Amino acid sequence: MKVLLSGYNLDSSTIDELKQRSGWTKDNITPETLSAAYARISRDPRDIEELRKEAREEVDKSRKSNETIIFGLGHASVAEHAYFNFDIIGLSRFAVEQVQKFRMASFTEKSQRYITLEDDFVVPDEIKEAGFEKRFIELVKFQNENYHILYKALQQYLFDKHSEMISTKNGKRTVDGWAKEDARYVVSMATESQFGMSINARSLENMLRQLRNSDLFECRELSQKLYDLVKDISPSIIKYIEPTEYDKTNNLRIKEYAGNLKIKSTKKITNEVELIDYTPEPDKKIAEIILSSLGGLSSAEAKESVNGFDDVKLQEFYRTVFDKRTQHDPLKRYFEFADATFDLVVSSSNYAQLKRHRVASMLTSDYDVSLGFTLPENIKIIGMESKFNELMRITDKFYSELKSSLPYHAQYVLTNAHRRQLKLKMNFREIYHFMSLRLDEHAQWDIKNTAEKMLKDLVKIAPYSTMMCCGKSEFLNKSKKIFE
Ligand SMILES: Cc1cc2nc3c(=O)[nH]c(=O)nc-3n(C[C@H](O)[C@H](O)[C@H](O)COP(=O)(O)OP(=O)(O)OC[C@H]3O[C@@H](n4cnc5c(N)ncnc54)[C@H](O)[C@@H]3O)c2cc1C
Repeated sequence: MKVLLSGYNLDSSTIDELKQRSGWTKDNITPETLSAAYARISRDPRDIEELRKEAREEVDKSRKSNETIIFGLGHASVAEHAYFNFDIIGLSRFAVEQVQKFRMASFTEKSQRYITLEDDFVVPDEIKEAGFEKRFIELVKFQNENYHILYKALQQYLFDKHSEMISTKNGKRTVDGWAKEDARYVVSMATESQFGMSINARSLENMLRQLRNSDLFECRELSQKLYDLVKDISPSIIKYIEPTEYDKTNNLRIKEYAGNLKIKSTKKITNEVELIDYTPEPDKKIAEIILSSLGGLSSAEAKESVNGFDDVKLQEFYRTVFDKRTQHDPLKRYFEFADATFDLVVSSSNYAQLKRHRVASMLTSDYDVSLGFTLPENIKIIGMESKFNELMRITDKFYSELKSSLPYHAQYVLTNAHRRQLKLKMNFREIYHFMSLRLDEHAQWDIKNTAEKMLKDLVKIAPYSTMMCCGKSEFLNKSKKIFE
């Protein structure tokens, strides 16, 4: 066996420095050569090392071959071997939502929990063009002033309450973070963010196309900036960045169709979490899959056998499945064969965290002021509820005015406390992972509330397959209870 390290990503400044020091002038520093060499593996019997050498020496030929293989023959996966990293600075939190919904990418973002906000915000071009710039800035500045007032008041309250904890540097930082995490509920979605993004070329091309099709100028501008940065480095693997007719018209067509159905919606949403669909009898389904894949039974035999399991037998079965598992062992794939779909109503702050769970399927509706807003409990405790409510009232009033001219872009002024509906589908393996992080003692209370309600519903339909589903910090206790 021979294994070679054929590449790894470097900071672009390191690449520039290396080029400068060596006086490098050749045009072969591109991840395209890796894609080109790997694309040839299936049909060229030579060692990969040789294919890579040839690809590096003849970049033009590599580019032609990439175009033929990726776009001509449709082997788009070849473009996944090329990887890029970007610093994205100064995008609004509203636009960040559109970028971070992409699944095949990695993001790390400045946290509004751990960093004090500095009042940086985007004034969207659409707001300027519609003549609302002045009032928009006034409102966002007012929200930001309130952020600082709330932060100081919450900090005081929490420092007093956790006086022992703040005696250490780390403890003080944690408690200070709790103050920030609640104060941020009043800042708008125009607030600037910064994040690092790592993405392969195939996924990037898809992202560029979708962002170009966005209703937000910010996203279209980002698409162009990202493209400008990669187009000369990798012209052969990122090509089709213009939205298709289907991209441009699909949503509109469906909205029009739905409108023509003339069904008057009387929906009244009362639950923040509602389990709307799931694999029938998930405990039995997962057991059936396990027995037929590992137990040497056919699918029909496994189904028949599991159908005869009573509660005692099911419990015994899952104790066997979970035996010896620690909180560091990921759940096995057979848990992916059952899933659950929820209708959720979540705050923008909650969604900012939820959207990062890339394995889940999520579909969001626009923010909707009729769903109310999420008020952090600590703000009530320190007696600033009415100040908070008044700010929401002022925000909602301006939002309604803006909405009549800019139905979509008006959402920029809504705050982290404002809410939207969300459809969320997860398989049980992802549910375990999600709960392990979001029910943990370090999880933020808002998303933790949602996770708790979801788990409550899941336990009713799948008491045994969810028996070890809990936050990381609770794992040992739970394990002791079940196994000792
Ligand atoms: C307490 C807490 C604080 C946080 N603070 C911050 C913060 O300050 N800033 C910030 O940006 N984020 C923060 N996050 C978000 C966190 O970094 C994750 O993005 C988020 O929790 C999603 O989890 P995940 O990436 O493990 O899993 P998911 O996206 O839910 O994926 C599930 C699993 O699939 C696998 N997987 C999915 N995609 C990939 C991939 N591309 N490569 C390899 N494996 C993959 C992994 O095993 C992963 O665990 C925080 C999360 C928590 C719980």
